[in-house]
Amino acid sequence: MIPSEVYALGASGNPIREIADYAMRRAEEVGAENVYDFSIGSPSIAPPAAAQEAAERLMKEMPPTQLHAYSPDQGLPEVRKAVADYLNSAFSMTYAPEDIYMTSGASAGLAIGCRALLSPGDECITLTPYFSEYRTYTEAAGGVMREVSTEPETFQLDYEAFAAAVNEKTWLVILNSPNNPSGVVLGEESIKKIAALLTARSAEYGHPIYILADEPYRDLVYDGDAVPYIPGFYADTVYCYSFSKSLSLPGERVGYLAVPPESKERIALRAAVSGAGRMLGYVCAPVLFQRVCAACLGQTGELREYKKNRDLIYEGLTALGFSCAKPQGAFYLFVKSPEEDARAFCKKAMAHDLLLVPGDDFACPGYARLAYCVPEERLRRALPAFGRLAAEYGLRAE
Ligand code: PLP
Repeated sequence: MIPSEVYALGASGNPIREIADYAMRRAEEVGAENVYDFSIGSPSIAPPAAAQEAAERLMKEMPPTQLHAYSPDQGLPEVRKAVADYLNSAFSMTYAPEDIYMTSGASAGLAIGCRALLSPGDECITLTPYFSEYRTYTEAAGGVMREVSTEPETFQLDYEAFAAAVNEKTWLVILNSPNNPSGVVLGEESIKKIAALLTARSAEYGHPIYILADEPYRDLVYDGDAVPYIPGFYADTVYCYSFSKSLSLPGERVGYLAVPPESKERIALRAAVSGAGRMLGYVCAPVLFQRVCAACLGQTGELREYKKNRDLIYEGLTALGFSCAKPQGAFYLFVKSPEEDARAFCKKAMAHDLLLVPGDDFACPGYARLAYCVPEERLRRALPAFGRLAAEYGLRAE
C-alpha cells in the first residue's frame, strides 16, 4: 500500500521547482531576458578552479576501477580524516575521522540527522523562517515539528518564545545560519543563550537535547561577519555541512555530518548516524566528488559577485520603498510583502515577470524570498519592474 503521507508529499510537488518550471515556459513566450527568475537557490558563480583541477587530475591519474569503486558507507577514510583535520584547525575542535559521515549533500545529512536523533513522538524545534524540508525529515522520522517565531523584521532569536517551546519531549533543535531564506546570521549572544538553556533543560529532563546545526551557507558571508561555530558552544551539536553552495557543486551531492567529540553520547551518536544512513540508503556518498571536495576544503568560488548582487538588490529595493533585513550571508533576500498576503504579492510580482517565493513556504507568511544567485544583468534589468510593482502599491520612491 502506498502510504498516504508519502503520496501527498510527492503529489503536491515542490513549489519552488514549479515556479522555476513556469519561468522556463514563460521565457519561451517573452524571451529569457524578460523573465526575472529569483526562485531557486542554485549557485550562479563558478566553482573554484581547484575543484575543476582536482576532478581532472583524479580522472586522469586514478585507475578507473579504483576511482569509481564503492567507499565504505561512511565515506572514504582519507576524506573523513581531511574533513576532521580541517574542522579541528578552523574551529579548534577535536574531531576524529570516525566522527565524520560523508553524505549526499545537506539534504541527506539532515534526513540522517533527524532519523538518528528522533524517536516517534519526539519534538523537534526550529526557528521560523526555515527551509521547509526540516519538517519533511522530522516527520519522516516520526517526530513532531514545533516552529518558533523569531523577532519580526530582524529574524533574530526571540529568546522568550524559544524558552517557552522547549519541553521534556524536545529532543532536537535545528538551527540554520546563515539562514535560508532571510540571510541572517545567528549571533554569538543568541547561541550562548540557547546553549545555556538547553544545558539546563537537558539536566532537568534527564536526557540530552541535541542541536542539528545546518550550515551549507557558512562560507558565504559578505561583510567579514564571523559565523559562530555552534558545536564550539554546545557539546551536543551534530554539525551538517554541504559543498553545494560554497563550492557551487549542488548537482554533485556531497556534504557531511560531524558527530560532536565532546558529547557524552559520542560513540552512540556515531553508531546512530551510521545506522540512520544505512536505514535510509544514504551510504557511500559520490566518491569522485568526495575526493574533489576534500581537495577544496575551506575554499569558495568568487564571492564578490554575490556581495555585489546583494548590495545591488538590497539598495535597489529599499530605495523603492520595500523593506527587508540586510542579508549578512547566503544568497537570499527576504522582502516584507507590502500587503498581508504574500502569496497575493508574489502573484502581482509575477504579472511583472518577477518570480519570488512566498514566505508561507518557509513558515513565515507576510514575506517573499528573492534568490539573488543570478547573473547581475538579471537584477539590473529587474529593477524597473520592481519599480512598477512598488508604484502599484504606492510605495515611496526616493
Ligand atoms: N539546508 C538549507 C538551509 C538549504 O537551503 C538547502 C538547499 O537549498 C539544503 C539544506 C540542502 O542542500 P544540499 O542538499 O544541496 O546540500
